[in-house]
Amino acid sequence: MVNSVAHSTEPVVGSATAIASEIRALRDFAELSADWFWEQDAEFRFTRFFGLATEKLRRAESEFFGKRRWDMPIRGISAEQLAAHIATYERHEPFRNFDYEVPGEGGILQYYSVSGTPVFNEQGVFVGYHGVGRNITELRLAELAIKESERQLSQIVDGSPIPTFVIDAEHRVTHWNRACEQLTGLSANEMLGQSDVWRSFYPAARPAMADLVVAGAMDDAIAEHYQKFSHSALIAGAVEAEDFFPQMGGEGRWLHFTAAPLKDSAGNLTGAIETLQDITAQRRAQTALEQLATRDGLTGIANRRTYDEKLGNEWKRQLRDSRTLSLLMIDVDHFKLFNDAYGHQAGDNCLQQIARVLEQVVFRPGDLVARYGGEEFVVILTATHAQGASIVAQRILDRIAELAMPHSGGEGGRVTLSIGVATSLPQPDSEPESLVAAADAALYRAKHAGRNRFVLDQATEAAQQAGTAATETRL
Ligand code: GH3
Ligand code: MG
Ligand code: MG
Repeated sequence: MVNSVAHSTEPVVGSATAIASEIRALRDFAELSADWFWEQDAEFRFTRFFGLATEKLRRAESEFFGKRRWDMPIRGISAEQLAAHIATYERHEPFRNFDYEVPGEGGILQYYSVSGTPVFNEQGVFVGYHGVGRNITELRLAELAIKESERQLSQIVDGSPIPTFVIDAEHRVTHWNRACEQLTGLSANEMLGQSDVWRSFYPAARPAMADLVVAGAMDDAIAEHYQKFSHSALIAGAVEAEDFFPQMGGEGRWLHFTAAPLKDSAGNLTGAIETLQDITAQRRAQTALEQLATRDGLTGIANRRTYDEKLGNEWKRQLRDSRTLSLLMIDVDHFKLFNDAYGHQAGDNCLQQIARVLEQVVFRPGDLVARYGGEEFVVILTATHAQGASIVAQRILDRIAELAMPHSGGEGGRVTLSIGVATSLPQPDSEPESLVAAADAALYRAKHAGRNRFVLDQATEAAQQAGTAATETRL
């Protein structure tokens, strides 16, 4: 009927023409709209469509005609939802946004969203439904894809034994896995949605690494918060660092952490994922190993290796700064006899006590006390002239005398030391070995001069007498 009116070119009466043009306009709108418009009869069977096109439905129009909505293979809703929908129809009530699925062309599921309103004739008799439908498949699939990728990210994060959290572009925590709960002692419940992730790691407000990545911080800005950081060689845009967190886990923890940017398909930054690694045990082992490699096992003072390294480095530094470097070579007197008289164990104890004395007397930062080997010790005094070195040597002898450790075969029945002192202004063409040899020679002279004394190396002494080296006094 509408068709005949719409297609009629015959202007019957003015009002009929107006109606016809009205209908034509509505038809055009329907065609251009992404929606379609449908009519059902009093038995709820589809009778007519406007704006219907296979591109919109992705299902042949013929499959609708003469059928009720629920005569078609509806999916994606529960039996209760469908029953409620049919009941709405039976009560002749309007409905909005009833979403359902139906297989379309090639069996591909189509998602429709429909709204309808009952129609009554002039006598108030129900004659059917008018409604609108829309294919929301693409929207729904996009939603599902997002949900799916979110679900997958959750599974990856939650399934990881590595402490991991994720923040979004507004710095809000979106993921906080079990391992992260365990490491920080803070539950996902407490953290999710919070935008102050720093609270888990730091006592005062400051950005965490993930925050810096989300903020797109440049190297300078990152360096303000992490003195030592690096760009990951593995993950594009990721930044990593190590830090000590004093208030974590009672006695503090060392963490290695990596924050990587998260981006959407358009390349926009949507957040950051941060993984943390508790490296406290490794750090402790490393420190212990370093101790082992640099300390003497018996006395706990620096070992020969540390001394060699230090002497080489200090030589270069003093050369650069034109400063004199002093060396004390110390040897216990008649120590063979000590061992013979009191046993090797007592000898070890004696060496430990001597080491304590050396540590007490030599306390200036930059100086070093080391065990040279056997019952020989060495002291490096930086930026120190012969006069200062002599004062230190004398203090050592005095402190050992105060200890008055008995030694039946020793000088005066006590443990004593002999010390060779050498001082030199490092020269570009000289080697630190020359200083060692000079101190050694001085020690030899101290032994021969009767032990329990310090002797200055001859060149050092000559220089001191000439007054060229005795400008600094040690206190
Ligand atoms: P002097 O230096 O006065 O000429 O006599 P000395 O007996 O000390 O000389 P020497 O260098 O010949 O002897 C060093 C002795 O020190 C040899 C060894 O018995 C002892 N000694 C070396 N290292 C250790 C050690 O680690 N523990 C103990 N208990 N004794 C050591
Ligand atoms: Mg010796
Ligand atoms: Mg000796």
